[in-house]
Amino acid sequence: MDILDSPVKTWETYFPYEPRPVQVGIINTIVKQLETKTHMVLEAANGAGKTIAALAATLPYAKRNGLKIIYLARTHTQIDRVLQELQEVSKSVNVTGIAMRGRESFCLNPLVLKYAKNNHAVHIMCSQLKTAKKCVYYTNMNDEAKLLPVLANLSSRPATAEYIFDLSQAAEICPAETARKLLQDVDVIACSYLYLFDSGIRPSFLDQIDCDLQDIIVIIDEAHNLPEMVNNIASDNISSFSFSAAIREARTNDRYDFISFMDSCVEYLTRQNKKLPLHKENSLDPAFLLEELELSCNEDLDDEFFAEMIDLGEAIRFRLAKQGKEPRSSLGRIGEFFFKFYDSIGKKDYSHSLKKQKFSDSRDTFVTLNLNSLDPSKVIYPVLRDVSVSISMSGTIGNPDAYQMLTGINNLKSMANLFPSPYDKSNIQSFVVKELTTMYNRRSPMMWTNIVKAIAALASETPKNMGVFTPSYSILRQLIEHGLEREIDKPLIVAKEGMSSSENDKLVEKFKSLSQKGGAILCSVLGGRSSEGADFPGELMQSVAVVGIPYAPPSVKSDAQIKYLDSKFPGSGRLLAYQIPAINRASQAAGRPVRGLNDRAFILLLDFRFGTSSVLNLLPQWIQHSIDKVPNDPQKISKLAKKFFSR
Ligand code: SF4
Repeated sequence: MDILDSPVKTWETYFPYEPRPVQVGIINTIVKQLETKTHMVLEAANGAGKTIAALAATLPYAKRNGLKIIYLARTHTQIDRVLQELQEVSKSVNVTGIAMRGRESFCLNPLVLKYAKNNHAVHIMCSQLKTAKKCVYYTNMNDEAKLLPVLANLSSRPATAEYIFDLSQAAEICPAETARKLLQDVDVIACSYLYLFDSGIRPSFLDQIDCDLQDIIVIIDEAHNLPEMVNNIASDNISSFSFSAAIREARTNDRYDFISFMDSCVEYLTRQNKKLPLHKENSLDPAFLLEELELSCNEDLDDEFFAEMIDLGEAIRFRLAKQGKEPRSSLGRIGEFFFKFYDSIGKKDYSHSLKKQKFSDSRDTFVTLNLNSLDPSKVIYPVLRDVSVSISMSGTIGNPDAYQMLTGINNLKSMANLFPSPYDKSNIQSFVVKELTTMYNRRSPMMWTNIVKAIAALASETPKNMGVFTPSYSILRQLIEHGLEREIDKPLIVAKEGMSSSENDKLVEKFKSLSQKGGAILCSVLGGRSSEGADFPGELMQSVAVVGIPYAPPSVKSDAQIKYLDSKFPGSGRLLAYQIPAINRASQAAGRPVRGLNDRAFILLLDFRFGTSSVLNLLPQWIQHSIDKVPNDPQKISKLAKKFFSR
C-alpha cells in the first residue's frame, strides 16, 4: 500500500529527515502530552529542529481528531519556514497548509497599496472598492477560469505566502481573497500571533476558518515574546498634538460636544506640558481625569460618548475612501483611546500615566496620555483555556514557571519540558567577564574603556563578523566615545536610534556582505530588530558581545506591573515584570549566531551579574551548558578566543 493511503499514520510518517536525538525527545514528549491534553511549554536550543518536530508530532493527532493546527510565529520568515518544512513532509504524505499575511501584504491594488503602512486604512479602502465593484482583482474572483486552477494548485501542496501571491498575481485575482478561500480546508495555518490574540481579529479569523477554539491545536513559536506582545496590543497612547486635526473634523461635522471635550483635553494637556519637566512621567487616576474633563466641558463622558466618536471617525474614514483619499480620522483615534481609557477605570491590571516628551527634530515638546496593560494572562488564558491543546516553544524561555504564570497556563493542566543543549561544548562557548558592568552607579569613563578593551580583544581574534549589543543607544554612544572604533580594525556598522525597518534591513545586509571581505562589527541595542529578528548563521556572526543586562529604566508602567504581579504572585513581581524580560533580551542577542547545530559561536557576556545565581538560572539551558567566568583581562579574552577559533 502507498504510504499516502496508509490508514495508520505515526509521527515517523510526517518526519521527512533522519531525526536527531533531541528531536525524538521533543516528539515523544508532545505525542504523550497530546494524549492527555496537557498544555506544553518547551525550551530547546535554536537549531534543534523544533518546528518540524512539533509539526510531525501534532499532525497525526490533529488528523485523527479532526483538528486544525494554527502555528503562530513572529516574523514572515518564521511563518514561511513552517510551510517550507510542510513542503518536505508533503513529499511522502498528504498534508496541506498556507502562510497567512495581513491584507496589506496580500493586496495587488495600487490604490490600496499607497496606504500599506496603515492597516485600518487598507481594510477600509479594500472594502470600499469591493462594495463599489471597483477592484478588478476582486471581481476576477468570480471568473472560474482564473480562480479554479489557482485554488487547485494551492490545495494540492503547502503554500508559502510568496507562492500564493505570485500565483494569484499571475491569474490577476486577489491573493488575500484566494488565501481566505483555502483557510477552511488546510491542515495547518501559519500566521502571526495577532490572529488568535488580538480580540479585534480573532472572531473574523475563526469565522473564516469555520472553527471554534476547541477545534484548534495552537503551536506558539518563539513563545517568550508572547506576554509582552499581548500587553502591547492591549496598551494604547495618544499625544497632545493629535487634537487639532480632530477638532477640525468635529467642526466640519458640527459636533460641538466633541469640540468642547477636546478643547478641555487640550487645555489640560497644555497645563501639564508647562508643569512637567522633560521626560518626566506621572501616574494618573483615569476616573479623576475624566471627572475633571467632564466638569470643564460639561458633557457626560461615558462609553456611549466615546463610542459615538468612534462611529463618526469610521464614517469620516469611509467618506475619505470614497473620495479616493487616505481614510484616516484623528477624531476616531481619540475616541478609540478614550473608550479603552474609560473601560479601564477601576481595573488593577492597567496603569495610566502622562509623559512629557520632545520632538526629535525641534525644541517643541508634547505630552502623551498612556494606558498600559499589565497582565497578559487576561488575554492569553481565555484563548489557551478554550483551544484543544497548546504548545509554547522557544529557545530562550528561561524560566518556564514564569511563562506559565504570565500566560495563565498555570491554571490549566500544563507541563514544562526543558531539553538539554544539543550543542557540542566546543562549538558554543560563553564567558561572563568579571568586574565589568553597566550598573548605573558603577558607570565611569574607566568602566567604558575597560568594556571597549574587552570587546576589542574578542574582535581581534574573531575571523569574520561579530555583534555587539548594548542595553541602550546612550551606552552604545559611550563605547564609541571611549574608543570602540579606534581599538578595532574592522569596520563598525552602527544602528541608529529611530531607524525604520527598511533602513535596518539595509544595515544588516551591508554587515552580512562584509563577512566575505574580512569581517565587520555590528553594533546595536538589545531588544532591537537586529538582536531579535535577524539570523546570522555561520560566518555572518561568529562571536557576540552582550554588554550589560537591559533592565527597563524605572517607569510608571514597570513600577505598576511589578506591584500588580507581586500582589497576584507574592514575591515574584520583580522577577516576572523586570528580571525575566531583560534576561530574555540578552539571551536572544547571545543566540543570534546560533541558528543550526553546526554553527559555532563565542559569546562574551560583559557584566558580572550574568554570573550571579539569580541571573544564571534564568539563562537558557544551551547557555548555562557552556558558561564560564573570565577575569577582566583583554589578553586572557584574546587567548580564549584564539583557542576557540583555531579549532
Ligand atoms: S480585494 Fe484584494 S486586491 Fe482588491 S483591494 Fe482588496 S485586498 Fe486589494
